[in-house]
Amino acid sequence: MSVKDLIAISKYYGSNPEYIIAGGGNTSFKNDETLYIKGSGTSLADCTEDTFVKMNRQVLAKIWEKEYPQDPDERESAVLADMMAAKKKGEEHKRPSVETLLHDLLPFAYVVHTHPSLVNGLTCSKEGAEAAEKIFEGKTLWIPSVNPGYILSLTIKKAMVDYAALKGEVPSIILLQNHGIFVGANTSERITELYSRIMERIESYITRKPDLSGEQSSWGASTKVIPILEELAEMSGGGRYHVKFRRNAGIVSVVKDRPSFFPVSSALSPDHIVYAGSDPLFVESSTEDEKQIAADIKAAWDHHLESTGRMPKIAAIKALGIFGIGAGEKAADLALDLFCDAVKVAVYAESFGGVQFMPEDQIDFINNWEVERYRTNVSIPITKGVVNESL
Ligand SMILES: [Zn+2]
Repeated sequence: MSVKDLIAISKYYGSNPEYIIAGGGNTSFKNDETLYIKGSGTSLADCTEDTFVKMNRQVLAKIWEKEYPQDPDERESAVLADMMAAKKKGEEHKRPSVETLLHDLLPFAYVVHTHPSLVNGLTCSKEGAEAAEKIFEGKTLWIPSVNPGYILSLTIKKAMVDYAALKGEVPSIILLQNHGIFVGANTSERITELYSRIMERIESYITRKPDLSGEQSSWGASTKVIPILEELAEMSGGGRYHVKFRRNAGIVSVVKDRPSFFPVSSALSPDHIVYAGSDPLFVESSTEDEKQIAADIKAAWDHHLESTGRMPKIAAIKALGIFGIGAGEKAADLALDLFCDAVKVAVYAESFGGVQFMPEDQIDFINNWEVERYRTNVSIPITKGVVNESL
């Protein structure tokens, strides 16, 4: 039992795209006094001891005795201030993951939180709660979609008390609706064992698997569309923007027409919002006529800007493919990666009654979140253009 094991298991899951994309997910190790939690804006794939923030567990526990403001922004910044104050000496320059409180609550030495697309097929589906009960024979805790941060930790704290009263044990598997999974155990071997079993069990219920084969970064009119989108982004965002194209079997099936696009037309999880936006653009345009494409894209873009106040991070063109839009090439690629993940999640969700999007108020919460402002402003220079977060 050690931080060494934490690093090994974090690298293992962090570098496996089946579990974690970009800087998503977070891990921790704890003893009685100290919680070692992944720092915000760091990535598990290349973690070192310095990636983890040492937290004083006694000070963290005091957070539960306090009353916080009702206003979400005021509440989250007050909780964040208290969390920052729980850092141990020498950790002043670091910022702990927003899910620190949650990691501290779970009574296991190791906690590994990931966002596997297979698991999210279950957590982002209409019948996910009932299906999870059946698949895991009542041995998991299902947490309905709530805002991340303090509210999520508080919800789980209460739900764990109820679960323990009913079943006489604490859950080692927690499924978060529209988000991902927490797995806790006292050895890292047990974490791996649990994860393998979880994946096997869910997989045995999948009726259709996603197919993202035949990936192309250029096709048809894509090279004509890229400068159109770059110009629109630069006009709206005031700076240099990068646009990248992707097409594969899964993308082709969702860009076929508007009804086919529906399962990926809104937010499935916070990570999807952070990297790919909550409202991808869908443009129905004949790609034969260059002037017409430009006019159709501009009309859809302006409408999007007006109705959301944001520029899209993904633009889909009917029958062509998808374009990722970002302040750097890496950000444009990440938008495409997360959109492709949403395509996978949506296909897996078909086995559990079809997709269930995040509630509108929670989508707004993520879009406006202080943590997101922090990550887009601060984590970019640290990681040379890679946006990393640990939701
Ligand atoms: Zn997460």
